[in-house]
Amino acid sequence: MALVDHARIPLTFGPSPVHPLARLSEHLGGAAVWAKREDCNSGLAFGGNKVRKLEYLAAEAVATGCDTLVSVGGVQSNHTRAVAAVAARLGLRCVVVRESWVDWPDSVYDRVGNPQLTRLLGAEARDVRGEFGLDAKESFLQVLTELDLRGGKPYPIPAGASDHPLGGLGFARWAEELVAQERELGVRFDTIVAATGSGSTQAGMVAGFAALGERRRVIGVDITGKPADSRAVVARVARRTAALLGVERALDEDEIVVDERYHAGAYGVPDEETLSAIRLGARTEAMITDPVYEGKSLAALVDLVSTREIPADATVLYVHLGGQPAINAYSAVL
Ligand SMILES: *Cc1c(COP(=O)(O)O)cnc(C)c1O
Repeated sequence: MALVDHARIPLTFGPSPVHPLARLSEHLGGAAVWAKREDCNSGLAFGGNKVRKLEYLAAEAVATGCDTLVSVGGVQSNHTRAVAAVAARLGLRCVVVRESWVDWPDSVYDRVGNPQLTRLLGAEARDVRGEFGLDAKESFLQVLTELDLRGGKPYPIPAGASDHPLGGLGFARWAEELVAQERELGVRFDTIVAATGSGSTQAGMVAGFAALGERRRVIGVDITGKPADSRAVVARVARRTAALLGVERALDEDEIVVDERYHAGAYGVPDEETLSAIRLGARTEAMITDPVYEGKSLAALVDLVSTREIPADATVLYVHLGGQPAINAYSAVL
């Protein structure tokens, strides 16, 4: 089986933009840095990487006659907002469980940004107490049982749409798309830097490149503060996805690179380096990044390029995965 054999409902505009970050590259004084912009990949409620993954899960939900998408995340989860957006677009119902993963003092933390958008999109949200983690939670299972009892047909989507049989396909397709764009632009990215949370973005890329017979250095920047867990889920989802794509060779351990230096201690909590990278991206490129995900991966990029850990003759791709709505919940520090 190959990627084209998996059903998909297009929810993105098409290939996401790839462009050079000239002023940021000049400021860092090392490798040439470009960006691929999943933050503007779709017209569905600010888009982002989750919309790309959901193209495959939504196809299965519709094909199997499900009537309600059910998912789980933190209070400012981009993922649950994207699930709500996809449900609205497809005329499905949506229930999301939001757990109190982050202890953040902004007075409107639970009211602006993603929770506000989720409400606007017509999803039902259940706010519960809970710790950051990717396992199926009691509250999530309870919603599924409730919907079953009501005679509905829920389609369960795990946190970040990652630890799911189809979770890695969206970013395997991304790898194919990137290779075609490289051909068009006459450029080749030797290093790719992206934030890693629930894992299937990085996992999909690794599996996708393997399916193309390509080897790329994909650096997943852990943003969870639990890098060993992140690495385990990336490896698992990458192998599962590679199998779905008919990759015959085994993925090597050194193809799964998770950098644990930039998570700033915990999910959802930025440090000075995160905030200063966010300001730098905004002031050199008007590229807006958030304190939960992209600010941390941008801080990693800034450090890796300016210290020449990524050599000056490299061409680097920074993958912007979305998430801007959350900046509204961080007015205390931004
Ligand atoms: C979910 C998310 C990520 C991390 O992607 P995973 O596939 O969960 O590892 C990065 N950036 C943003 C904005 C996200 O919403």
